[in-house]
Amino acid sequence: MADLEISNFIHNIIDKDLADGKNGGKVYTRFPPEPNGYLHIGHAKSICLNFTTAQKYGGKCNLRFDDTNPVKEDVEYVDSIQEDVKWLGFEWDKLLFASSYFDIMFHCAVKLIREGKAYVCDLSADEIREYRGTLTQPGKESPYRNRSIEENMDLFLRMKEGEFPDGAKILRAKIDMASPNINMRDPALYRIAHQSHHKTGDEWCIYPMYDFAHPIEDAIEGITHSICTLEFEDHRPLYDWVIRETCWENPPQQIEFARLNLTNTVMSKRYLKALVDNGDVTGWDDPRMPTIAGIRRRGYTPEAVRDFCERIGVAKANSTVETELLEHCVREDLKDKTVSKMVVMDPIKVTVRNYPEGRTEMVEVENSKNPEDGSRMVPFSRDLYVDRTDFMEEPVKGYFRLFPGNEVRFKGAYFLVCEEVIKDENGEVVELICTYDPETKCGGTFSARKVKGTIHWVDANSAVPIKVNAYNQLFIDGEDGKQVVNPESLKVYNAFAEPAVGEMKAGERCQFFRHGYYIKDTKTGDFNRIVDLKSSWKKK
Ligand code: ATP
Ligand code: MG
Repeated sequence: MADLEISNFIHNIIDKDLADGKNGGKVYTRFPPEPNGYLHIGHAKSICLNFTTAQKYGGKCNLRFDDTNPVKEDVEYVDSIQEDVKWLGFEWDKLLFASSYFDIMFHCAVKLIREGKAYVCDLSADEIREYRGTLTQPGKESPYRNRSIEENMDLFLRMKEGEFPDGAKILRAKIDMASPNINMRDPALYRIAHQSHHKTGDEWCIYPMYDFAHPIEDAIEGITHSICTLEFEDHRPLYDWVIRETCWENPPQQIEFARLNLTNTVMSKRYLKALVDNGDVTGWDDPRMPTIAGIRRRGYTPEAVRDFCERIGVAKANSTVETELLEHCVREDLKDKTVSKMVVMDPIKVTVRNYPEGRTEMVEVENSKNPEDGSRMVPFSRDLYVDRTDFMEEPVKGYFRLFPGNEVRFKGAYFLVCEEVIKDENGEVVELICTYDPETKCGGTFSARKVKGTIHWVDANSAVPIKVNAYNQLFIDGEDGKQVVNPESLKVYNAFAEPAVGEMKAGERCQFFRHGYYIKDTKTGDFNRIVDLKSSWKKK
């Protein structure tokens, strides 16, 4: 992980709070996902921020499921979210569910009604929108605003008892319909939803709204710094109102930061769910998905994701980070953790004419540029494969790989020269006839001439056939400027690999020499391209 300390305005706020003796010197944070989908890389930023902030100040961080909306929530998501947080390398203090506070929230609502600070409103959703006013015009008061406390209490209890259908009534805060902040114009606190909840079953048919529930959840858990994304900035006065009016000893403080946006990436659980439901991808953990489950299967490492989150820092203004930076972090992490193997993606047959038929020798190939990584023995024979991209019949200027008459080194083995090109009836190259120079064996003393190119190869007899999934970005710009699914986001290769690749375990990573970093897929046993070798990312 990069240990450079990037300025983090949230830590500056906490430093000041600690200096002022606030919260008894405690720093409690929480990561509060709604279990309505799998987490994405944007959530990773929030996870890293909340957990590392608690770590930095010797505090605690809870994992709290914000499960107050039964309609879209599911236990599958509850499980996947825990797995993702653990994979990123964090341990929560407590695992909590907002739904276990439904009683307390209900009592808070009753308290507000009793004090004349909340009322039951019969306006329809459309009417409420109409009455709300606009940014430039104040709202109108609801005709139900001045119901008596007794009537409100009676109606609210009957809402709870299930007497009214969905949408018939809501409980609203009585604040100020003329407030310049629309969120303060008598916002909804409770709504009716005859829906089973994944935790509470059919116990409730009224559910609290996010803006009412969230501050209470934070207060119950003794959260000191409630970190959320920027779109909640205008909701902060309401957050503070709820905390104040429902009376908590240690009021939590909401702090907003800019959410992570990545180029060519859509980060919205709703949108990602649609991709899954439409079959555009194979599932939430499709290796092309920007979900944590997806990038895990793709082969990204938690170290790389944490490094990325640290490098992008925490800001108060929205911006878009280049996806290439994330890929750069992945390369940086993998380069010293993986050894390289030889894999031919798109094979052309090579016959070494002057190499004895039936003979196989083992040649020594280094595992990486780092001598400490050692070497391995790889079979070499008369029948080989090379990559189609390593041959050009008519080479362009500066091309040092195989072309007729050109001599190159076959990595770890000999110098070979291409003598003859064999094509099929369509003119496609199917075989290269080469000769080798036995004097040039790698590791020997040969020094009479040098070659400019080194290419990788595999021995045809011992090669292991593998399926390789080369992923490209999942999203591209559509005609209307919106992101659409890239029809070329997956290219499959039927490749040949040296024997050692056949022994790799599921989840194991390596470098395919000159191609990139790959992982053996945990589900299919195919090989996924994690990231290619070249970096197009430049530090600005
Ligand atoms: P989505 O719109 O993708 O469903 P969400 O914000 O509704 O995301 P939540 O489950 O409510 O998802 O999010 C849990 C936490 O993660 C919240 O504190 C939220 O602010 C944070 N979060 C969500 N998306 C991002 C992002 N792109 N960058 C940083 N933090 C994010
Ligand atoms: Mg949400």
